[in-house]
Amino acid sequence: MTVLVINSGSSSIKYQLVDPESGEAIAVGLVEQIGESSSHIKHTYEGVKHEFDETLSDHGEGLRFVLHLFDTIGPKLSEAGIVAVGHRVVQGGRHFDGPALITQEVRDLVAELAPLAPLHNPANLRGIDVARDLLDVPHVVVFDTAFFQTLPEEAARYALDREIADTYAVRRYGAHGTSHQYVSRKAAEYVGREDLKQIVLHLGNGASVSAVVDGEAVDTSMGLTPLEGLVMGTRTGDIDPAVIFHLHRVAGMSIDELDDLVNKRSGLKGLVGENDMRAVWDMANGGDANAREALDIYVHRIVKYIGSYAAVMGGLDVLTFTAGIGENDDLLRAEVIARLAPFGVTLNAETNAIRGDEIRKISTDESSVTVLVIPTNEELAIARQAMDVVAGL
Ligand code: ADP
Repeated sequence: MTVLVINSGSSSIKYQLVDPESGEAIAVGLVEQIGESSSHIKHTYEGVKHEFDETLSDHGEGLRFVLHLFDTIGPKLSEAGIVAVGHRVVQGGRHFDGPALITQEVRDLVAELAPLAPLHNPANLRGIDVARDLLDVPHVVVFDTAFFQTLPEEAARYALDREIADTYAVRRYGAHGTSHQYVSRKAAEYVGREDLKQIVLHLGNGASVSAVVDGEAVDTSMGLTPLEGLVMGTRTGDIDPAVIFHLHRVAGMSIDELDDLVNKRSGLKGLVGENDMRAVWDMANGGDANAREALDIYVHRIVKYIGSYAAVMGGLDVLTFTAGIGENDDLLRAEVIARLAPFGVTLNAETNAIRGDEIRKISTDESSVTVLVIPTNEELAIARQAMDVVAGL
């Protein structure tokens, strides 16, 4: 049995055909630049990557092309035992604390939540609509926010005028929830205990941190949108919101320009002109003082969150690194852990240097906190959740 996982963006469709039981990604692909003069398509099956340039004017044409690739390159979906399509949706608001079978009502709720995630939900919905048209199997939505619906009010509610906040649904929804849930469960399995105080650092191009107690999220760094929290590839993370008013007033920047500035032209990119952590390291190693400072700012923010979440939870048992930077950047992990030395956290330099897809413990046996590296797999998590929903039908 397989599940087709679809992550539909404003001009892209990412997909994976997953065997939820074995965890195998049978075919993986990406359609980019939908709606532009030339769209780029990659489809990988049996270890071979096939690439195409086509004109695909909308998501419907994009997905039709993908289905054509499954037919001609393989695997044929009709023979691949496809039982569901799992769709990633960024914002589930307060309606969804888990995956949901797509009905007309669920579809309309996703559409209704668009004002809370204007860049994401409408794009997700486009993928849902075309996939429902083209694939006659149950469709399931898995929300990035669902895992954070357990956040206590003290963590989710901003100290903002109550009436305004409630009228406009302003609160902390979090994001990357599928990854935080998957990774925190893997960590509990690895340690062999459920009753744990955990921090998960999801450090990719987008970055977020969560505090998880006994399997439930109690705090997270992303807020109303994925802008809040850690320093990211192109986003500021936490800043004083008055910076926005200040730049509007003194620099004459419009709201749209400021939105673009804090979301797309800030973070590592804003600090050094590169949003890829590898490029930042190259610059720092070449003696670029701004790049070294950017790394310090990045690490400082992470350490600040670790301290505050440990305090919020009244302790810390397991700290886990995941996503592109978390999984691959041993030097950055070493810098974070070095700053936690006063709290008895100690690095195992040997295991920290290991590269690979395996879960690994990178703290010493004497360390006060177990530090892990766990590769995240959002597609597999979505496939498994979709499978669970279908099994319950
Ligand atoms: P996304 O948020 O796009 O899913 P990923 O989780 O794939 O991001 O992470 C992408 C980031 O991972 C890249 O921007 C890059 O900075 C970082 N990265 C990947 N490999 C390495 C590495 N070996 N060292 C440092 N950073 C890395």
